[in-house]
Amino acid sequence: MTLLTMEGITAFYGHSQALFGVDLTLAEGEVLALMGRNGMGKTTTIRTLTRLLPHRDGAIRFDGHALAGLPPHRAARLGLGLVPEGRRVFAPLSVEENLIAAARPGPWDMARVTALFPRLGERRAQRAGSLSGGEQQMLAIGRALMTNPRLLILDEATEGLAPLIRAEIWAAIHRLKDETGLSILVVDKSLKELAQVADRAVILEKGRTAWAGPMADVTQDLADRYLGV
Ligand code: ATP
Repeated sequence: MTLLTMEGITAFYGHSQALFGVDLTLAEGEVLALMGRNGMGKTTTIRTLTRLLPHRDGAIRFDGHALAGLPPHRAARLGLGLVPEGRRVFAPLSVEENLIAAARPGPWDMARVTALFPRLGERRAQRAGSLSGGEQQMLAIGRALMTNPRLLILDEATEGLAPLIRAEIWAAIHRLKDETGLSILVVDKSLKELAQVADRAVILEKGRTAWAGPMADVTQDLADRYLGV
């Protein structure tokens, strides 16, 4: 079943156009990699999906609902679980308070989140602001899971983290895919890691969908052409 369809999406920052026609579809249970060089529109696409930025043309359908005109909190309630770029957690609150504040009914609760990220259990009473960058990222993912999303959206979740912590985050993403079948939209710079977890890929070039297909078909040629690696 198709969970998400974005068709012909355009978007602007003031008078400056950032998206010129983004198309993507995501099936239930699928891990989709959204790729492209810096500034090609990945974060802006995610912002239109989560309603942090309105789109101008095109249509977004999520789980049978048209998203046009919905405010972000209503879109979140439909099951869009965003882990934003730059991992925003509530610094003065404890780990536990951060998780509880995000909670919505469903299978994901404190016990399940701390089983996925044992460090969060160990640091349950600690102020979020005093966690390491990697632990804050785990907390940001934990918060999104506590909302019991239909779609988990990870925008550069491993950015700026030490290799060992990065590996822990990727391991968690693999577990989410293999053990829970959660639908995931993932933006990340590591083609190698994406190749191991994503089912399909969408490549953006200058605010447009330039290529879409199975992750296995993202060849070195394609990567050279669109990703500059
Ligand atoms: P990155 O990997 O650098 O985050 P990206 O693919 O996510 O890149 P976007 O951040 O979506 O790209 O940026 C798409 C375009 O929109 C770029 O040309 C960027 O300069 C522009 N842009 C992004 N944010 C803003 C903003 N707040 N105001 C004006 N222009 C913006």
